[in-house]
Amino acid sequence: MNIENNQNYDLLVVGAGPAGLSAALEAAGRGLKVAVIDEQHAPGGQIFRQPPDRFQLPDGGPAPAYPFGAELLRRARADTRIAWHYGATAWGVFREPQQARLRVGIGSGDAGAMLDGRALLIATGAYDLPVAFPGWTLPGVMSAGGVQTLLKSQFLRPGKRFVLAGSHPLLLLVADLLLKSGATVLEVAIARPRPGLGELLRGWRALPGHLGLMLQATRAVWNLKRHRVPLRFGSMIKAASGGEAVEAVTMQDVDRSWQPLPGTERRLEADTLVVGYGLLASTELARQAGCAVDYGPREGGWIVRRDATMRSSVDGIWVAGEPGGVGGAELAHLEGRLAALDVARALAAPAQRPADAELDGVRRAIRKAHRFSDVVLDFFAPDLAALARLASGDTLVCRCEEVGADEVRGFLRANPHVSDVNSVKLACRTGMGMCQGRYCQHTTAQLLSEATGKPVERLGHYTARAPVKPVSVIALANLK
Ligand SMILES: Cc1cc2nc3c(=O)[nH]c(=O)nc-3n(C[C@H](O)[C@H](O)[C@H](O)COP(=O)(O)OP(=O)(O)OC[C@H]3O[C@@H](n4cnc5c(N)ncnc54)[C@H](O)[C@@H]3O)c2cc1C
Repeated sequence: MNIENNQNYDLLVVGAGPAGLSAALEAAGRGLKVAVIDEQHAPGGQIFRQPPDRFQLPDGGPAPAYPFGAELLRRARADTRIAWHYGATAWGVFREPQQARLRVGIGSGDAGAMLDGRALLIATGAYDLPVAFPGWTLPGVMSAGGVQTLLKSQFLRPGKRFVLAGSHPLLLLVADLLLKSGATVLEVAIARPRPGLGELLRGWRALPGHLGLMLQATRAVWNLKRHRVPLRFGSMIKAASGGEAVEAVTMQDVDRSWQPLPGTERRLEADTLVVGYGLLASTELARQAGCAVDYGPREGGWIVRRDATMRSSVDGIWVAGEPGGVGGAELAHLEGRLAALDVARALAAPAQRPADAELDGVRRAIRKAHRFSDVVLDFFAPDLAALARLASGDTLVCRCEEVGADEVRGFLRANPHVSDVNSVKLACRTGMGMCQGRYCQHTTAQLLSEATGKPVERLGHYTARAPVKPVSVIALANLK
């Protein structure tokens, strides 16, 4: 792949999910010179992930669940004004002293380049919340998003006998896909208690405009019933076990605050455990760029602080979609558009600038979309402290550097003055590996919080440094 340096774009967009795509199309439509960078090989992000083009599908592939999805993908595929860089990772954001322009380092295999932009939109989405419990590194333990990706875009079923454990609605959709693929699903275990009538009635306020999504979830639950798959509330993972790979899963009942109830352990013989306790916001690029973040455990951990037009605390950088708080595809789509309108207000030719009323209209739609996402977030919020307590004994907390929970707890006992996660990182090497803490930061922070009695928001977050994601040395050497 050849990528030319510089190019002097008006707007660089990292991420081609609903947020990045709607922003890029809006900005290009207003005459701005736009480049989009995404690690995937096609537009769509996580939610509209499509099978590869070379798969011959009779009806063109699965239809996106959201009504705007098909149109967004069609417009993105057809747009030749935008420079699309698929299969490329953005690994760092830089600014020369005294220069207004931002530079984004990208790598794609052996190729590397620095792209220049007057503005940058970070729309890097979210990723599955990793949970460290005994056996979580065994082959056969998979995240709900990972299993969904294999089923949706590769038509691959990664096992035969499945147990699904978590607290996120994605779990129901994955169970449904697994059943349709002919898998045996032994149980779907949701950690929260079964919702009462009052809670369900309060949820009705989310319904207007979102009937399709509710029906999708209802159909999934109905399919579980039809296949006699138990949907157990108040049940949580304890461990996965096996020799070379998962052979059994131990589940346990929990009370309302996710505390295990003694004597309730059950062993299920399965070859695949699907874990779906929630999502974490992908903020590494924004943090490396210096954007301020706040702690929002319900919204995906550390999330980027933004103003009413999606501007971050760093001049020239806007953030849309899940890095600013997990809230679903509709919200991400609207936020991307709002960010692009604001960029156009600053950079487009006068005739192409949006009127204030246009921005107000999108803001109103965002408020409405929040009504839905807030209900979903409240309903399925993971208890991060309870999940971190699952890491017992020598359970690996940091799988890149192979650091166990014992080691972290031992260090904290010996050093009671330690009160920020970066000190734990420096001393124990948690977060120093390939994933740069994406897997272990939240567990490490919870262990530190347990040891110090301080809330996680006061313990800080790992410093993000370039390269925020792996990039080949040749790609770096090829930078001019
Ligand atoms: C695995 C997974 C599966 C999901 N499935 C569903 C579902 O079935 N139904 C549902 O309603 N919601 C689902 N969600 C939630 C849904 O994805 C989001 O609500 C929505 O896609 C958010 O849109 P976005 O544009 O903010 O981010 P995303 O759609 O996540 O798009 C972000 C894009 O940024 C790219 N990216 C990230 N970092 C970099 C980088 N450094 N360099 C280059 N590219 C980068 C990613 O490849 C990705 O394409 C899922 C989430 C995940 C993580």
